[in-house]
Amino acid sequence: MITLYDTTLRDGEQREGVSLSVEDKLRIVARLDMLGVTYIEGGFPASNPKDIAFFEAAGDLTLKQAKVAAFGMTLRKGITAVEDEGLVALADCSAPTVTVVGKAWDKQVELALETTLEENLRMVYEGVAYLVASGKEVFLDAEHYFDGYKSNSAYALEVLHTAVNAGASALVLCETNGGALPHEVYAITRSTVEALADWSSAQVTVGIHCHNDGGCAVANSLEAVRAGATQVQGTVNGYGERVGNADLLALIANLELKMGHEVLGAERLQLLTPTALFVAETFNVTPDAHQPFVGQSAFAHKGGLHASALARFAGAYNHIDPTAVGNFAHVVVSELAGRASLVSKAAQLGIDLPADDAITAKLLADIKEREAAGYSYEVADASLALLLRTELGQPASYFKLESFRVIAEKREDGRVMTEATIKLHVNGERFVATGEGNGPVNALDVALRLAIKRFYPQIDLLELTDYKVRVLDESVGTDAITRVLIETGNGEAAWGTVGVSENVIEASWDALVDAVTYGLLVDIS
Ligand SMILES: [Zn+2]
Repeated sequence: MITLYDTTLRDGEQREGVSLSVEDKLRIVARLDMLGVTYIEGGFPASNPKDIAFFEAAGDLTLKQAKVAAFGMTLRKGITAVEDEGLVALADCSAPTVTVVGKAWDKQVELALETTLEENLRMVYEGVAYLVASGKEVFLDAEHYFDGYKSNSAYALEVLHTAVNAGASALVLCETNGGALPHEVYAITRSTVEALADWSSAQVTVGIHCHNDGGCAVANSLEAVRAGATQVQGTVNGYGERVGNADLLALIANLELKMGHEVLGAERLQLLTPTALFVAETFNVTPDAHQPFVGQSAFAHKGGLHASALARFAGAYNHIDPTAVGNFAHVVVSELAGRASLVSKAAQLGIDLPADDAITAKLLADIKEREAAGYSYEVADASLALLLRTELGQPASYFKLESFRVIAEKREDGRVMTEATIKLHVNGERFVATGEGNGPVNALDVALRLAIKRFYPQIDLLELTDYKVRVLDESVGTDAITRVLIETGNGEAAWGTVGVSENVIEASWDALVDAVTYGLLVDIS
């Protein structure tokens, strides 16, 4: 039986450039609970006002099955447990489970901690025992365990033994520097599990916590499971400092689909892809299209040959059925792809195309023409869906533009403000709205929302998450062609749209209109 321990909110938030609010953290907790994670580590209850507020709020949460865990250090050197503020805060916080870090590498104890090996054992023992006595379920994170085991295996094991004697219920072997290789992790975990089995009293869980510095975090974690570890730690999307942690989603998918462990069950496994998107959006990080299992391109095939083979035999070029993890067999429509690609892409977008109809040939020709003019539908699924619907005589249209105007003003204080005025018609009524923003797209977005909000209040759920501009060098003459790609989400799904023009504002407007129209289409239909 494998237990999942998520550390997205503690180790994952260490990713450069990320800062989560208390509300962000609480929303992620709810999402991970829905996914079926057993432990959700929330942060250090003593470290800053935000984490203190989080643990206060977390105490009031009603979770289906997950337990919130707090993280901290074992006892500091030279003092007793009650003198250690961090330890007292852990004992007092709302979390039923506490994970404390103890050093397991003799060199680290002597050189980094600057104390004796005996004092380190006392710190582990008294820290764990104090928290157990306060009623917590206590896990020991054995820091640098693998380097420690290579340096002095007897001491590394003694640290674990000490924690067990003090009442720890899980020993988490941490591959802190992220450089170990799978065969090493297997061998050391195996020896450790065997050594623990030899101790008469030990009824203790062995966990694994890996970082991805050598690109082996998921592989290392899977090897640890093969060697007997039963608690798996990781972060959603592999977020974490430096190159990140083990990607918990890939771990889950591999454990469940490749190694035969029942981790979430088939139904909740389909939540992996939406969870990846949700956490990426909450982290304000562009989702990685090429992420294993859950990336938008994880099952994308560009070649017409692959696509037509896949249409006949789903396993032809995919390692799993993408729907098992809530993903889709995105078939990339490009200049290379043939008719089979378009048919299966359309089916995925909910549009039925007959395989050898003349209409399909005409659509394909039109798409190729637009690609030659600068459009790209590889990430702009939503624009493709709208184009197909229009060409098939089922256009989605919720408002009609009369005109827009954008003014950019540079002010004395150095700030540039942009103002957009939009005139449009909804259901025969005319609306005029003005929006301000930090750039033309932002200002147009604000004005458009104001103009149509009365008819479509659900527009509030849509959020533009990414905006990319590319000047295409294939253009002829003096005017360069600009392609704008916009990514939009509603908290549940994300979609891409594209606009192309010699004018960047017009290209942006076209991509924006598609983004909003598709959002309304998905919501209304
Ligand atoms: Zn870590």
